[in-house]
Amino acid sequence: MSDATFDPRQAQAAPIATIAAGVRAGKLRARAVAEAYLERIEREDAALGCYVRVDAEGARRSADAVDAAVAAGRDPGALAGVPLGIKDIFCTKGVETTCASKILRGFVPPYESTVTARLAGAGAVSLGKLNMDEFAMGSSNENSAAPVGVVKNPWSLAHVPGGSSGGSAAAVAASLCAGATGTDTGGSIRQPAALCGVVGIKPTYGRVSRYGVIAFASSLDHPGPFARTVEDTATLLEVMAGADPLDATSIPQPVGAYAKAARAGRQGESPLQGVRVGVPDEYFAAGMDGEVETAVRAALDELARAGAKLVPVSLPHTKYAIATYYLICTAEASSNLARYDGVKYGQRAPDARSLEDLYTRTRGEGFGREPKRRIMLGTYVLRAGYYDAYYGKALRARRLIADDFAAAFTKCDVLVTATSPVPAFRFGERMGDPLQMYLADILTVAPNLAGIPALAQPCGFTKAGLPIGLQIMGPPLGEESCFRVGGAYEARTQWHERRPLDAAARTS
Ligand code: GLN
Repeated sequence: MSDATFDPRQAQAAPIATIAAGVRAGKLRARAVAEAYLERIEREDAALGCYVRVDAEGARRSADAVDAAVAAGRDPGALAGVPLGIKDIFCTKGVETTCASKILRGFVPPYESTVTARLAGAGAVSLGKLNMDEFAMGSSNENSAAPVGVVKNPWSLAHVPGGSSGGSAAAVAASLCAGATGTDTGGSIRQPAALCGVVGIKPTYGRVSRYGVIAFASSLDHPGPFARTVEDTATLLEVMAGADPLDATSIPQPVGAYAKAARAGRQGESPLQGVRVGVPDEYFAAGMDGEVETAVRAALDELARAGAKLVPVSLPHTKYAIATYYLICTAEASSNLARYDGVKYGQRAPDARSLEDLYTRTRGEGFGREPKRRIMLGTYVLRAGYYDAYYGKALRARRLIADDFAAAFTKCDVLVTATSPVPAFRFGERMGDPLQMYLADILTVAPNLAGIPALAQPCGFTKAGLPIGLQIMGPPLGEESCFRVGGAYEARTQWHERRPLDAAARTS
C-alpha cells in the first residue's frame, strides 16, 4: 500500500492493523491517510451529518507528529496513523465538546478524557467529534440538538442510524473514519452498530475509564469502540481499556489479548469446539421482526457448524429490564445534569434577574425535550416518599437481572441474541411515542444493568437492504470469549464486507 493508492473506501484493503503497520514501517504516511479521510468527509458528510466538528488542523498536526516519530526512528504506537472519530461526549482538551446539547455550546474542556488520551498516545489521529443524541439519551439520533441536524443512516437516508452513538456507527459504516469511540448506557453502542451494519462492543463495567466522559447515568455508562471488523474493534478496545486512577470504578485486572482472541476464532474448521453458546428464550419474544429472527437463527446455526454447542437458557427477569433501566437511568441523569446551571459550563441565559432566574432560564432554554423529560422522571423517582417504591425497587430488580446472567453463565460461555428486535426504523416513526422509542432497547439494556460485556456485529440484511445485528454477551471480563465467537462468525460470513453506496451513487 503506498500513499498514492490509499483509498478509505477500500475498507477490506485497509483494516486498522494494516494502516498502523504501513505507517509504522514508513510505507504509508499518516498525513496521507488523514488527508484521504478528510477529503472523503468533505464529500460525503453533508448528506449524513455524522460530524458535529471536523478538526482538520488537529488531525494534520497529530498525523505529522506520527510521521515525524517514524522518520526519527521512535515508536509511533500501536495505532499509528489510524484515523478515528470521537463521540462528542468525550472531553477533548481545547476542542469544543457539546454532547449535542445547546446547553454545552461553547464548552471547551480544559482536560482530555482518559480514552482519547490513550488513543492519541498510541498514535491514533482524531478527525473530529461525532454527532449523537443529546446527552446520549435516545435510540435514533433524533434528539440531537447539534447545528448539523440529525444523523442519517448511510444505508437509507430515510431511516435512523440508531442512537445514541448514531454519528459513530454511521461514520464507520460510511468509511468516514476507520474506527470510532462511543458510549453505551443502555445500548448506545450496540443498537446503532446493528442499525448501521458495523461492529461495536460495550465492555465490562469499569473496563474502560469514564474519566472525562460526560456523565449520563454513572452506574450504567460504558465507553467502548466501533470499527468495521471484530478484530479492529478488539484492537481499539485493547488500547482504550485498563485501570485508571482517575476513575474510582475502573477495574485493576490486566487487559486481555482481545485481537488475538478475535483471530483465534478464524483458526481451523471448528474454531468454536468446546464453546457453549446460550440461547435465551426470552430474547426471541413476540414483537421481534421476522427477518431479524431468521437472520439470528441462521447465525446460531453457523456458530454450531463452527463447533459451538447451543444450549437453551432462561433469563426469567428479562421482562423487568426496560422498567428497571428507565428508573435507574433517569434517577442518575437527574442528578448528573444538575451541574448545568449556566455558571460553570457552556451556555448562560443573558440578563438574568436573580440566581434562580439564571438557573431556570439557562436550563429551560438549554436542554431539549428528552433531557427535560428524564430530569423530571428522575427527580420524581428519587423524591422522598417515592424513593423506596421506585428507585429502591429498581435496584432490587437490577440485582435479580444480574443474578439471571450469573446463573446462565454456569451453563454457557456466551449468550447469543439479536441486538435490536427491528432493523432501522424511519425518521419520525417512534418520536411521538417515547415508550415505543424506549422499547428499541429491549434487547440491550440488561447487560448494562448487569455490567457484563456485549459485542454487536452484522449478521444479515433485510430484503430492503437494511443491516441486521447479532449480539454476543459474555460473563464479567469475558470480552475475549465474545471476540473469539464474533471472530469465528465473521470469518465464516461476508456481511461485514458490504458497504453502503456513496452520495454520488445514492438515489434516495
Ligand atoms: N436508548 C437508551 C436511552 O435512551 C440508551 C442510551 C444509551 O445507551 N446512552 O437511554
